[in-house]
Amino acid sequence: MMDWNKLADILIPDADIKPLEYYESKYPERGLEKGAEVTRLAPSPTGFMHIGNLFVALANERIAHQSGGVFYLRIEDTDEKRKVEGAVEVIHSSLKYFGVEFDEGADLCGDYGPYYQRQRAEIYHAYAKELIKKGLAYPCFCTEEELTGTREKQTEQKLLPGYYGEFARCRNLTEEEIVANVRAGKPYVIRLRSQGDVEKKHTFRDAVKGEITVTENNQDVVILKSDGIPTYHFAHAIDDHFMRTTLVIRGEEWLSSLPIHIELFNVLGFKLPRYGHNCSIQKIDGDVRRKLSKRKDPEASLTFYREEGYHKIAVKTYMLTLLNSNFEEWLLKNPDKPIDEFKYSIGKMGKSGALFDIVKLNDISKTYLSTLSVEEMCDFLQEWATDYGTEAQKNYFKDKEYLCKILTLCMGVGGKKRRKDFVCAKQAMEFIAYFFDETFAPEYSYRFDCEVVKKILSDFVAAYDYADDCSAWFDKVKAVAAGSGFATDMKAYKANPEAFPGNVSDVAEMLRVAVTGLSNTPDLWTIMQILGNDRSVARINAAIAAL
Ligand code: GLU
Repeated sequence: MMDWNKLADILIPDADIKPLEYYESKYPERGLEKGAEVTRLAPSPTGFMHIGNLFVALANERIAHQSGGVFYLRIEDTDEKRKVEGAVEVIHSSLKYFGVEFDEGADLCGDYGPYYQRQRAEIYHAYAKELIKKGLAYPCFCTEEELTGTREKQTEQKLLPGYYGEFARCRNLTEEEIVANVRAGKPYVIRLRSQGDVEKKHTFRDAVKGEITVTENNQDVVILKSDGIPTYHFAHAIDDHFMRTTLVIRGEEWLSSLPIHIELFNVLGFKLPRYGHNCSIQKIDGDVRRKLSKRKDPEASLTFYREEGYHKIAVKTYMLTLLNSNFEEWLLKNPDKPIDEFKYSIGKMGKSGALFDIVKLNDISKTYLSTLSVEEMCDFLQEWATDYGTEAQKNYFKDKEYLCKILTLCMGVGGKKRRKDFVCAKQAMEFIAYFFDETFAPEYSYRFDCEVVKKILSDFVAAYDYADDCSAWFDKVKAVAAGSGFATDMKAYKANPEAFPGNVSDVAEMLRVAVTGLSNTPDLWTIMQILGNDRSVARINAAIAAL
């Protein structure tokens, strides 16, 4: 008869381990109101924040906070190779930017920590030891080569890969063999002694996907690696239990591991939290629909949205359209309400892949930005410029009065309808660049001969008076047009376009190109009012000189 108690002490000689009741009482049930959900984000500290992280974080955050529960951050740092310095700071700051904040967790306070898995070795060891004592886990001394050999054999025989059944070579080692191996200094991992049967299937209620069929696990998965560090499977089961997680919304890439997790919770004697597997974010790439890739798609990274200066509320709004099928309808009915008032529901989460559509994000962004006041827009742009703008762009904020006039015009404030030209901060800053001499770099392009343009610009400069109101100004444009034979009466022009070199709008375009370098801008008279007399005249003269 194998003495598993004795073996457990040999295999896991961790002196810090306390009786299991200690952990149960140290991390008691949270005593929250009925219906309050405890959710978490459990990323690896890789330093890279994928849009999928925000996607899943937002779902968990909404559910926790709308139910009066807790949303916490746990760092799954069991894989030393993937760890990057400063990663936790990146997780906090990038999510905070989008308004997703944790109540407790890594680098925050909280009674259920430590929230870094590497600091929780004692608890994992206590439970691994317990499983060994119960005969539900055992040491495995197989070398890499032996495991590779098994894998090759399985591939050859077209069998499922893994450590199970006849391939679980260390499952039935005797006490003497185990002790001898340990004494000989052979490295070992601890594996689960799976009780499952792949022939058995169960119905599982996934909080997102609904009823699914799950096959029992029969893999003797590793629970502790040879350095005593747990695997994700084992650590998450223990952590979600002791951090009293009630609902795990995670990426659907974990669905295939669910059978392992169900068995682990079971053998550990823990109540399984509810799981909801969130669909991945996909995109259409030519003919294929595929997951957004960190390597191929810049928009897969959360940094992209900050560098481009997407407004956090616009991104969050877009994420919610992907996350909850009834959100858009709510938004249409409640355009003025803060989006946090939307009642998020797990039942309305997409069951299959969410299609990422940057055009739609841009539309949402334009609409959102068009609701800002000039002051809000100014602050938003300045915040972006402080972190990502060029020196010249930072200078735009030196004369706020000037900038506010520009924004008033470009946003259409005071007009019949707000303009929707701004998509994100970077693009908006480029959009207004021509108002600033430092960034005014015109590439003049006219649709008429140089001589024609020259005469028109010269005639206009001679007639221009800054004091003219909009209609007096336009009368002068017309007079200049007529002076070069351009039509000023659109009806007459349309009746016989061949009779004219062009019409008054062609003339206005020449002026626009001369003043702004662009053929398409908001109202030119207002632009010249904002630029001021000297700058406007100087620009037209420079344009003439360049002809
Ligand atoms: N560390 C896992 C990941 O980053 C967590 C999965 C989970 O949420 O359980 O994907």
